[in-house]
Amino acid sequence: KKNPLPKPKWMKENIPGGSKYAKIKKKLRELKLHTVCEEAKCPNLGECWSGGETGTATATIMILGDTCTRGCRFCNVKTSRTPPPPDPNEPSNVAEAIASWGLDYVVITSVDRDDLVDQGSSHFAETVQKLKILKPNILIEALVPDFRGDLSCVEKVSKSGLDVFAHNIETVEELQSVVRDHRANFKQSIEVLKRAKDYAPVGTLTKTSIMLGCGETPDQVVRTMEKVRDAGVDVMTFGQYMRPSKRHMPVSEYVTPEAFEQYRILGMDMGFRYIASGPMVRSSYKAGEFYIKSMIE
Ligand code: SF4
Ligand code: SF4
Repeated sequence: KKNPLPKPKWMKENIPGGSKYAKIKKKLRELKLHTVCEEAKCPNLGECWSGGETGTATATIMILGDTCTRGCRFCNVKTSRTPPPPDPNEPSNVAEAIASWGLDYVVITSVDRDDLVDQGSSHFAETVQKLKILKPNILIEALVPDFRGDLSCVEKVSKSGLDVFAHNIETVEELQSVVRDHRANFKQSIEVLKRAKDYAPVGTLTKTSIMLGCGETPDQVVRTMEKVRDAGVDVMTFGQYMRPSKRHMPVSEYVTPEAFEQYRILGMDMGFRYIASGPMVRSSYKAGEFYIKSMIE
């Protein structure tokens, strides 16, 4: 058996810092709100929560529980065919907590809920709507599942008042069945993104992300980028796949920072609104800061 690849020196972790970060963290304890940033021990936490150059603090929160009905080969979330039912008070509670938290940009995401009739889409839409009522100037990104391609779900969420509709294709077209759960596929995900752009009010951005280091070739990455752009997607992010445990798919390669930068430049040339690309990038990485900068430019 092959030994895992050694981690290169650029896969360094940052130390959280900044005064805005400290304030947010204190408030978070009082509100009993759980963030993906903290739970996943995300190394970008200091950068995202402090808001960077534009002071646009970003965090990611998860709704619809902690148990997913799917099992992707890269993902560390618990899985079950029958997760507990969603908490009907969650949209109100989460909206109130986020509104009083001092965030500028929030990514609301969830596990996949293939067990629910509406795939959890109403719960998503309600959370967005309630939060926009309480705090109209907060920027909201909903990072949603494929809803099994159910377009009524896509429509509901696209029209909920969000600023960014995000759905991750996770990897290049050729590796979909290797990396993602068998219920997910490229065509369905692209269709979700395309339709979201049609349904959402003008000015709403669509966004997707892929992980590199899963065994893809640079050509496959470029072709996937072209198809994503053809689907009208505005924003794309690229990060390094990191294996959560030995039970998960191994890392095929550590892509160099220079290669990540090449994809960023290429993506900007293709006409994406912005590209976040780097070894430590997650799909929500400094999303608020990048959003604001892309509006100014
Ligand atoms: Fe949170 Fe995403 Fe930023 Fe990590 S990259 S700290 S999960 S917002
Ligand atoms: Fe993880 Fe999402 Fe796949 Fe569920 S659908 S296993 S949460 S990546």
